[in-house]
Amino acid sequence: MTSIPKPSEATGAVETAVTYLREHDSEHLAQLDDFLRLESVSADAACADEVRRTAQWIVDEMGRIGIERATLHETSHHPIVTGEWMHAGPEAPTVLVYCHYDVQPADPLEEWVRPPFEPRHEDGRVYARGSGDDKGQLFMHLKAVEAWMKTHGSLPVNLRFFFEGDEEVGSEPIERFIDEHADLLRADVCVVSDGDTFDDDGTPAIGYGLRGIAYWELRVHGPRQDVHSGQYGGGVHNPANALVEMLSQLVDDDGRFTVPGFYDDVRELTEEERAAYAALPFDEDAWADETGVPQPMRGEQGHTLLERLSARPTFDINGIWGGYTGAGAKTIIPAWAAAKISTRLVPDQDFRKIEKLVKDHLESLAPPTVRAEVNVIHGGAPAVTPLDHPGVAPASRALEAGFGKAPLFQRSGGSVPVVAALDAHLGIKTLMLGFANPTGNFHAPNEWMSLRNIRDGMVSIVHLWHELGAMRATDLRSGEDD
Ligand SMILES: [Zn+2]
Repeated sequence: MTSIPKPSEATGAVETAVTYLREHDSEHLAQLDDFLRLESVSADAACADEVRRTAQWIVDEMGRIGIERATLHETSHHPIVTGEWMHAGPEAPTVLVYCHYDVQPADPLEEWVRPPFEPRHEDGRVYARGSGDDKGQLFMHLKAVEAWMKTHGSLPVNLRFFFEGDEEVGSEPIERFIDEHADLLRADVCVVSDGDTFDDDGTPAIGYGLRGIAYWELRVHGPRQDVHSGQYGGGVHNPANALVEMLSQLVDDDGRFTVPGFYDDVRELTEEERAAYAALPFDEDAWADETGVPQPMRGEQGHTLLERLSARPTFDINGIWGGYTGAGAKTIIPAWAAAKISTRLVPDQDFRKIEKLVKDHLESLAPPTVRAEVNVIHGGAPAVTPLDHPGVAPASRALEAGFGKAPLFQRSGGSVPVVAALDAHLGIKTLMLGFANPTGNFHAPNEWMSLRNIRDGMVSIVHLWHELGAMRATDLRSGEDD
């Protein structure tokens, strides 16, 4: 039977795999560019074929490097890709790796210095849509496996892969997929790489919490058609005015949501967590500088900026439109106006409960002079992995080996729906090892990722499989402490 390698005897093996990465660096970066050229924009129906080609690219690449059962699965939307290598023996841990291969739309295109799907390398960075979020990180996982397979013909752990094409549009197909394909996903722990390092200075991070999300579209309808504001102004309630009046009632001066019951289930930070937040190196002025805003918003009183950025819920208008937006003046009262709004949620808020609370509240705010229509767009649950999870220490050692610095622990402000779904459906806890750069412009023009994070991250992943491979599956399993 397969014995579990002791860390000492495998150290040389790690070095060989790391050397492989170093020797194939330029070839790998060129291949990353090929991957980034594929326009896998999940939100754009015109890109559907390209999204599928991207999924197929991953399947082909998995097959080439020795990952077995590489499969493109049809879903209600874009394909999901899975694959596995399960020959490390029954006592070795099984790790599920999750990343997403879809990307955000690139517009506004005119703000990109180079076209978003023509990667360029400058200043030690790769600029392209998806370089950091999340194709670059997916690619790093494939290369780390390749390094082990090409140098040893095997991996220290059993690995499963779960690559999604709908993350940027709300991950709708994943819950059903997890239910129907549990046999392809079962694992002792999940590693998600869809976040960032602590800073742009090579300090890695382990994420232990994610915010959830709820998202709505509000449409306010007024007169049957656009009407003359001179003729009807003062009599017809302008739906754009009504929309703004309704939205402005949703938050108070501190940005706190005013919807009754919204904060009922918010888990307050413990004293230890607040102390840990306070100990993190964080320069508020540099942060404000980097965003380009004159100063940070006032925000919820009693919480530091860093706490508000990840451990507190938020409210945002993501888009607002209606009426005349062309050149010059056109004096109309528009027939309708609309807004997309969302809130980031924290443990233990239930996104389905929040979706309904806000929908009901918005409908109650609509004046009788207009008709309001509120639709739920998508939602995802928040998640937290306990810091004493048995996978945290080996992951820390792996990151330190790759980056030369110990990781810091952070709760992320973003949302990755799969994390809560894997926990709820299969009891799998997740280690969030993000390798993108925190100022890398995800979801924005001129997205980039540093070559340093790509290289140090790949080395960390090589070490991670070695570290986890030195454990027994039973020692890594931790699903009973919910
Ligand atoms: Zn992402």
